[in-house]
Amino acid sequence: MSLYNLFAENVILPLSDVLLKRNIKGNLDFLMDSQWWSREKIIEYQNKRLRALILHSYENVPYYTNLFKRLKLTPSDFQTVKDLIKLPILTKSEIKKNRDSLLAKNIEKKDTMQICSSGSTGEPLCYFLDKKAYGFQMATNLRGLYWHGFRLGDKNIKISQNERNTLEKRVQDFLNRTTYVFSKHLTSENIQSTIDKIIETKPKLIYGYPDPLKFMADYIIRNNISMPAPKLINTSGNILFPENRKQIETAFGTKIADAYSCEGAPNLFQCNHSSMYHISMEYAITEVLNLNDTKAKYGRLITTNLHNYAMPFIRYDTQDFIQTEDVVCGCGRELDVVGKISGRDSDILKAPSGKYLIVHNFTGYFEYLDSIKQFQVRQEAIDFFRILIMVEDNFSSSLKAEIELYWKNYIGSEAKVIVDIVESIPLEKSGKRRFLIRDNKIIL
Ligand SMILES: [Zn+2]
Repeated sequence: MSLYNLFAENVILPLSDVLLKRNIKGNLDFLMDSQWWSREKIIEYQNKRLRALILHSYENVPYYTNLFKRLKLTPSDFQTVKDLIKLPILTKSEIKKNRDSLLAKNIEKKDTMQICSSGSTGEPLCYFLDKKAYGFQMATNLRGLYWHGFRLGDKNIKISQNERNTLEKRVQDFLNRTTYVFSKHLTSENIQSTIDKIIETKPKLIYGYPDPLKFMADYIIRNNISMPAPKLINTSGNILFPENRKQIETAFGTKIADAYSCEGAPNLFQCNHSSMYHISMEYAITEVLNLNDTKAKYGRLITTNLHNYAMPFIRYDTQDFIQTEDVVCGCGRELDVVGKISGRDSDILKAPSGKYLIVHNFTGYFEYLDSIKQFQVRQEAIDFFRILIMVEDNFSSSLKAEIELYWKNYIGSEAKVIVDIVESIPLEKSGKRRFLIRDNKIIL
């Protein structure tokens, strides 16, 4: 650890915490300790925070005051995490309808920040987070990076599809030794200039969405570029598929630590001892429900942020699907583990037989076909699937027929499957790439 790391952690961070009214440093110290707590102690902490959140919501948030009255519930009905089932799921459309009544009356606007998230479907949701909750969220993310050897003050590059537009963020970047690269369009020129910045600054860490990094990896491999390997790449914001991980790691000559977070704000961070993700249970309660709203190992991630008092989301439906695992990770941390993150429910297809098809069904197949660069599956009717593929020069027409036959058998003979070779597969407005698209007339 360098002197600058110590300075960043013990001088810059506490100072900016005071100026910006958040407590990243205190929360980070807490989280570095709580990660080693026993499961019982973690659950006890969650129960305590939940009781406080429920009481606050009941007393200060009109939406919840009304909801509790309507359901004839009082805060004393909520003693542990298991009692959460007494409340309905909070959907994105419910939030949009009740934005004003979800705001706490006793929290001043200056102590909150508005966050607008595009989500992986590109449908934006704007909400308020109190600055303290933001500080906790940032600390969970930093803890994840610390697992992989990064320290605050290490040089890093952030590749983003959004412009850096506030002075505060630019000052923060300067102090944190962050080089911010705004790369909206992934042209060869932009990719080359990002690579030049990596060569010039030799960062320890590169942050980015998986898809832009995958395009960069293609470019690096194609042009046989050699550059200094960062210690770590941190991906988030979109699903990182195994074949993309492999390619990015090869091109950049380093390991990826993947993370997940969303507007409801759970934080999942890949462990340094396994390929699994740890849930930051100190930050949010995570429930997993199947399509019938019953508890399951694989299903929709429902989250309750234990720290956001400005606009509490209790049992928020993230619409993302995850696979939890009943194992204790080899690292010794008893925080719950997640094996896979599968994306939004609009990224799930439904075969005529009723069988669900998720991204991993397809990536597990396409990753072994060298002559296919990218794919996207579009379900246009309950019995009609169109698979778009971008191919390499060595692609043969017999393979096209083979793919059609394989997926027809897999999905079921009632379905028609067509493979179209295309020049490009467009990204979503948000800059993210979708692998599966189900026509919205087809209900799961
Ligand atoms: Zn672990």
